[in-house]
Amino acid sequence: MSDDNNQRPRKPLGLKRSVDAGEVKQTFSHGRTNKVVVEVKRRRVLGKPGSEAAAPPPPPPPPPPAPPAAAAPKPAPRPARPAPAGETPQERVKRLQLEAEEERLRMAEEGRKREEAEARERDEEERRRAEENRRAEEDAEKQRAAAAASPAKAPPVDDAAASTAEASATPAPADEAAAAPAAKQEPAPGPRKFTPVERPETKRPEKKKKEDKRAAPIDAGKDSRRSGKLTVTRALNEDEGRRARSLAALKRAREKERRGQGGPSKPREKQVRDVVVPEAITVGELANRMAEKGADLVKALFNLGMMVTVNQTIDQDTAELLVEEFGHNIERVSASDVDINTSADMDPEETLRPRPPVVTIMGHVDHGKTSLLDALRGTDVVKGEAGGITQHIGAYQITTKAKDKITFLDTPGHAAFSEMRARGANVTDIVILVVAADDGIMPQTIEAINHTQAAGVPMIVAINKCDKPEANPQKVRERLLEHNVMVEAMSGEVQDVELSAKTGMNLDKLLEAIALQAELLELKARPDRDAEATVIEAQLDKGRGPVATVLVTRGTLKRGDNFVVGTQSGKVRALVDDKGQQLKEAGPSMPVEVLGLGGVPSAGDVLTVVENEQRAREVAEYRQELATEKRTALAPTNFDTMFSTLSSNVIEFPVVVKADVQGSVEAIVNALHNLSNDDIKVRVLNGGVGAITESDVVLAGGSKAPIIGFNVRPNAKARELLKRDNVRMMYYDVIYHLTDAIAKEMVGELGPERIEHVVGRALVKEVFKSGKRDKAAGLLVEEGVIRKGLFARLTRADVIVSATKIQSLRRFKDDVDEVRTGLECGVVLEDTNDIKPGDQLEVFSVEERERTL
Ligand code: GDP
Repeated sequence: MSDDNNQRPRKPLGLKRSVDAGEVKQTFSHGRTNKVVVEVKRRRVLGKPGSEAAAPPPPPPPPPPAPPAAAAPKPAPRPARPAPAGETPQERVKRLQLEAEEERLRMAEEGRKREEAEARERDEEERRRAEENRRAEEDAEKQRAAAAASPAKAPPVDDAAASTAEASATPAPADEAAAAPAAKQEPAPGPRKFTPVERPETKRPEKKKKEDKRAAPIDAGKDSRRSGKLTVTRALNEDEGRRARSLAALKRAREKERRGQGGPSKPREKQVRDVVVPEAITVGELANRMAEKGADLVKALFNLGMMVTVNQTIDQDTAELLVEEFGHNIERVSASDVDINTSADMDPEETLRPRPPVVTIMGHVDHGKTSLLDALRGTDVVKGEAGGITQHIGAYQITTKAKDKITFLDTPGHAAFSEMRARGANVTDIVILVVAADDGIMPQTIEAINHTQAAGVPMIVAINKCDKPEANPQKVRERLLEHNVMVEAMSGEVQDVELSAKTGMNLDKLLEAIALQAELLELKARPDRDAEATVIEAQLDKGRGPVATVLVTRGTLKRGDNFVVGTQSGKVRALVDDKGQQLKEAGPSMPVEVLGLGGVPSAGDVLTVVENEQRAREVAEYRQELATEKRTALAPTNFDTMFSTLSSNVIEFPVVVKADVQGSVEAIVNALHNLSNDDIKVRVLNGGVGAITESDVVLAGGSKAPIIGFNVRPNAKARELLKRDNVRMMYYDVIYHLTDAIAKEMVGELGPERIEHVVGRALVKEVFKSGKRDKAAGLLVEEGVIRKGLFARLTRADVIVSATKIQSLRRFKDDVDEVRTGLECGVVLEDTNDIKPGDQLEVFSVEERERTL
């Protein structure tokens, strides 16, 4: 601004006056200065000293010629008034003061006018630019949309920028010559149009300035500072004005800087991405993958005639339309592509290396499984060297004297074995069947034999407790024959060892037998590949988070590996062996505890190492979704189902139970459980309170189970599904009848099947007295017909109030046999008077049919 002041041709006058009058320079904070006219004082010294109270500094030596910047604002003074004759010094002082004041006001007024003109100009300029910006943005929007359709088009930005540049080149109408250069000094307007934020920022302080000026014209303009008196208020106001201006200036500067660094992204060239799209994806996720705004996708979908929100899921085809619309490439993946299936991926023969056998110990309770496991552990020749403390992690590995390695699963009993097998995880290579020589073959021994044979796993018989005097190993061998286990001594192929877990007798022989069996099995795995392992056990450790003991089945598991295990993902944070030692890696058949899981997996889950964290998460998420779908589709909410899978040769009788109150549910479930025996078990898929719903029907349909309704009825939707899915309903109101019927069905001693055919439904509209005791109901037949003598159920909010018969049926005053849909009638129900308006009446006939089971 000082530049334009310089252009004013007032310099000589200002200088002259300054020389004439003399000025003193005042210095204030913030480096501001002020010049005060001191000519008055000089005169006063000549006249009457001490009469002036004002305390400007003593008359300075004549100041050096003011620098042009300071001198420039000096307005052209009016010719001084001639001093009237006979003027006293006081009068003269007054006159001069008056003159100075007038002069100052005049200058202020002038400054204000100039500022106003400038502000007007600036506003004008802003308005014009805002308008241009708006147009440019509209153009850009249009062209972007066009460009999305044909991405080859030149970016719309250039045109817009050009038009703005053009516009800004047109000079704004200027009232005052000074305004033009000021406008030209504004930052280049081109990029500004994409920073709409700036508009309010720059405009607001200016507006405020304008208002300030109007309110206190005396402060307007910079020039006012040089026009004489300075008060504290003025100094403060000025200061504020300055601060506001400099803040806006700062913002502008920042904005400019930001723009310089590439700030708003719109002018940037659009990136074409390869977007991976699964079979279904939410709009939000698709937007993320495309690096576009969710709202833009929603808009685009809207244009395609689809009303969806960001959180809604769209299918692959729709996603493809969107991806193409935004100029990206689609990469379709199907659900199966997401999951890992390593079953088909076989390691070439030449990469395979021998691996230690994995051994499980089974047998009857108290026959010495735990003792044997401990004893075998004690035979480890390297246990002392490691110096670690024994850790029970579910499995351990020993090295025999012959330098053979053997892995033992530390979870005795066949439940764990069966559970793993049920889940398709057959990690056991050899089973050691422990039989106490003093006790012989017992029920669990037989169970263990069955499980082992079913799994096709070779067996070694360990005849334990041979240290006992009453031990009879030979009897054990003979009895084993009855169960198709032929030991070598009986000219069979199954190895047997007489031993004692207590004394350690023949433990080495058992180890030899294992080694021999392992050799026969030619156990091999490829060690130099990404690991695959099976979870032996897993739990949430208070200090260490989710921990899983896994058995590496192939490859080598390393610290830092990313993996997915069941529905969980993770990264190997630490590997700990059964001696508490931290390992860097674990090879085939090595049991090892893994830390760094996202959650607790299940025993039998397979751990697979994947290339990176993202892949691990993706697979885990996919599996979680799948698991959720399965759970919601067929939800066994009961422990019954969990264990039923373990006992393979028991017939199941699945049912869904719904009753009116929790007490009934419990009583029915208990009564049904009591019906179970070793051959047939009732499996309650779900037992709950309330009306029979669609999900009950779906659940029952999936398992071909009947639904037992105890004092409850299906709701309308469930009724439709029942018909569609052909699910059997069994209604009862006495538990005894229910258990009776189920028991009959279970043992196959079934009476004729009782089939209900619903013939009509009616709504109770009103209730009135009939005769002395009975109540009659005024009905509207809503469906089918109502016939005298038929069975009927009265329900209130889908709960059966009474099971009865139509005793009498009337239409108007006449007894009738049947009433059809849409007609009203009156009924009296047999044995019940509990009828209320709003109740539903379901009328049905019963057909008895021979069962065909
Ligand atoms: P598990 O239930 O099969 O695990 O059996 P345990 O290992 O707990 O053993 C049950 C009981 O038999 C314990 O009191 C052991 O001390 C004992 N026992 C185990 N092995 C032998 C053995 O070889 N000789 C003798 N005399 N007792 C044994």
